[in-house]
Amino acid sequence: EEWTPGEEGAWTRFERFKAFALASYHGDRNRPDLAKVSRLSAHLHWGEISIGQLWHGALLHGNLEDTLANKSHEQFLKELTWRDFSAHLLYHFPALAHQNWRPEFDAFPWAEDTEVLERWQRGQTGYPIVDAGMRELWTTGWMHNRVRMIVASFLVKHLLQPWQAGERWFWNTLVDADPATNAASWQWVAGCGADAAPYFRIFNPVTQAEKFDPEGVYIKKWLPELAHLPRQFIAKPWEAPALVLRAAGVHLGDTYPAPIISLEQGRARALDAFARLKDSSS
Ligand code: FAD
Repeated sequence: EEWTPGEEGAWTRFERFKAFALASYHGDRNRPDLAKVSRLSAHLHWGEISIGQLWHGALLHGNLEDTLANKSHEQFLKELTWRDFSAHLLYHFPALAHQNWRPEFDAFPWAEDTEVLERWQRGQTGYPIVDAGMRELWTTGWMHNRVRMIVASFLVKHLLQPWQAGERWFWNTLVDADPATNAASWQWVAGCGADAAPYFRIFNPVTQAEKFDPEGVYIKKWLPELAHLPRQFIAKPWEAPALVLRAAGVHLGDTYPAPIISLEQGRARALDAFARLKDSSS
C-alpha cells in the first residue's frame, strides 16, 4: 500500500516532491506530521532513481536564480551529500556496522536487556513519539528522519542498549536499509561515529514531539489508542489527570504502557555511563 516499486514509481514521487514540497523543504523536513520529505530513499537504495538525477532535477527545478538563492534546494542537495559521505565512511572502514568508529567506545558499559529491546522494537516504551515511530517502521518499512534520530537516541541513551542492536533492527525492517547510511547514522547518534553528536546530547522525546509534531497528528496516526487525548498531554500521557485519561479511554499500563523508564533516571544513567567511559579511557 505504501510503495510503488520501480522507476515509474520513483519518478512520480520525485515529481510530486518537486511540485509540492521542495520549496519549503528547509523548514518542513523536520516535521513527521507533514508529508514534506521526498520518501525517495528506498527508490535510491534499489537503484530505481540515481543521486545524479535527483541532484540535477532539484537544481533545474524552476528558475535557476531563485533555485540558487533558495535554502530549501541547498538543504536537499546537502542531504544527498550526507548519503555519499556515509558511503565513503563504509569504503574506508568496512567494519562500520559492527565496530565503533571511535575505539574508545569499546569499553562503553551498555546494559543489554532483551526485554527492553523488544519493548522498543514493538513500540511499547510508553513514550508516544518513540512508539509511533517504531510502529510506522513495522507497518511501512520506513520512518521519518527526525523520528529515526529520536528513537535511536532513546534506545542508546535512555535505555542504554548497544547501538548495534538498533542498527540490526533497522537493517531487518527498513525498505531503504543501507549498510553505509544506517551504520553511520546509528554511530552518529550513539556518539561513537565520525563527526558524531556529542554523547551528552540526549534527545528529550517529549520536547522533540512537542516541537516537531505540535498537534500530535503523527502520534495519533500511529497510536490510535491515544486519539482522544488532548493535545497538551499527547506527548506525555502520564502527566494527564486521571479524569482526562478516563475521558480519553486511556488506561496506563493497560491500553497503553506506562513509561519504561523516567526521563530523569534514563538521562542520569546515560551521563553516568559516559562519565565512567571517560574515566576508564583517561
Ligand atoms: P529526504 O529528506 O527526502 O532526503 C532525500 C535523500 O537524501 C534521502 O532519500 C537519502 O538518500 C538522503 N538523506 C536524507 N537524510 C539523510 C541522512 N541523515 N543521512 C544520509 N542520507 C540522507 N537512510 C537510508 O537511506 N537508509 C538507512 O538505512 C538509514 N538509516 C538511518 C538510521 C538512523 C538511526 C538515522 C538517524 C537515519 C537513517 N537514514 C537512513 C537517513 C535518513 O533518515 C533517511 O535517508 C531519510 O529519512 C529517507 O527519507 P527521504 O527519502 O524522505 O529523505
